[in-house]
Amino acid sequence: MIDHAVRMQGLTSAIFTQVDGLRKQAAAAGKDVISLSIGSPDLAPAPHIITAMKEAINDPRNYGYTLSKGVPEFLRSVANWYKKFDVDLDPETEVHSLIGSQDGLAHIALCLVNPGDVVLVPDPGYPIFSAGPLVAGAELRLMPLTAENGFLPDLDAIDEATLRRAKLMILNYPNNPLAATAPREFFAKVVEIAKRYQIIVCHDFAYSELVFDGYRPDSFLSIPGAKDVAIEFHSLSKTYNMAGCRAAFAVGNAEVISLLGRLKSNFDYGIFYPIQKAAVAALTGPQDCVRETARVYQNRRDVLVEGFRAIGWNVPKPQASMYIWAPVPTCQSSYDFVVSLIEHTGVSVTPGIGFGPHGEGYIRIALVQPEQRLAEAVERIRNWLGRI
Ligand SMILES: *Cc1c(COP(=O)(O)O)cnc(C)c1O
Repeated sequence: MIDHAVRMQGLTSAIFTQVDGLRKQAAAAGKDVISLSIGSPDLAPAPHIITAMKEAINDPRNYGYTLSKGVPEFLRSVANWYKKFDVDLDPETEVHSLIGSQDGLAHIALCLVNPGDVVLVPDPGYPIFSAGPLVAGAELRLMPLTAENGFLPDLDAIDEATLRRAKLMILNYPNNPLAATAPREFFAKVVEIAKRYQIIVCHDFAYSELVFDGYRPDSFLSIPGAKDVAIEFHSLSKTYNMAGCRAAFAVGNAEVISLLGRLKSNFDYGIFYPIQKAAVAALTGPQDCVRETARVYQNRRDVLVEGFRAIGWNVPKPQASMYIWAPVPTCQSSYDFVVSLIEHTGVSVTPGIGFGPHGEGYIRIALVQPEQRLAEAVERIRNWLGRI
């Protein structure tokens, strides 16, 4: 018998593993599976990004440790890229590379939270938002995100004692899995509360570029005073279709960035240099590839949303992200619906309950297949729902 560390207890991915198992089972049984459950982009990086990586790979001098902060050229590219949000960053002190945002989200609580401190996390939320703080020994307080509150935490509903004990609040807009966006006034209110109760805000801005119909989201750091209390994460995974490269960054409050850097310099030795060169090419090169990626997701969104609405399944049309957050159209739980859906149609999606208790009643559909496959998914669901 192997003794498991207590801190492993909160780390369950049972539901995601089960759904993935069903998907694989269906595929192994010869079913034509349309996989809309995994949030990994199916699109390719732009050619100039791949070329930059290839050139750097061909140079044998580029194979050493890079150290975790990120090479100066990468840090400068990030600071320049951020100007579009009206945010000024010092590349020396306010930018740090991450081996994917996941790296930062997994480790930030270890820098800021003592066992028993409270961390405020969204429910439903991206799983690492809870897993990181749990490993750090935090007490989680879930902030329910519901259609009634516009998928924003009700800040007035958090009691005084909790706010006093809270060290960290995690936010994510545009949001995964909800595809929701946040107005500037909400961010301003968060800054005010964070200052009053000395809470560090960690904003995950992974979907800042996957935006539709002309919508432009605000960086949390563009709120006056935000840099006193916040850091923000962005990733090249979705914006430049580089998910496997593991290239991302944290920006904002210099003291928090420095703490995260101190932890990481003990844990890792940085991103492979050719990947940093590819990231620099992405951040500083022509940005029409980003607009093209957003346009592809927007068209896919329209195929699904309009297709579902035409068969009487009223799903919301999001302004951003690569997901549809849809109410379960039958009387089943989100998990049972997902099981039936894959069994009867071969379409795999993610049950909302996997993202937290308030995800029950919903499913998340990832827009990671071409339009024609999405249309096929609508057609199969129409046939099935028509029969139940
Ligand atoms: C995909 C995603 C990321 C990106 O994670 P990486 O580790 O940078 O690949 C970050 N946050 C959210 C909410 C995501 O959905």
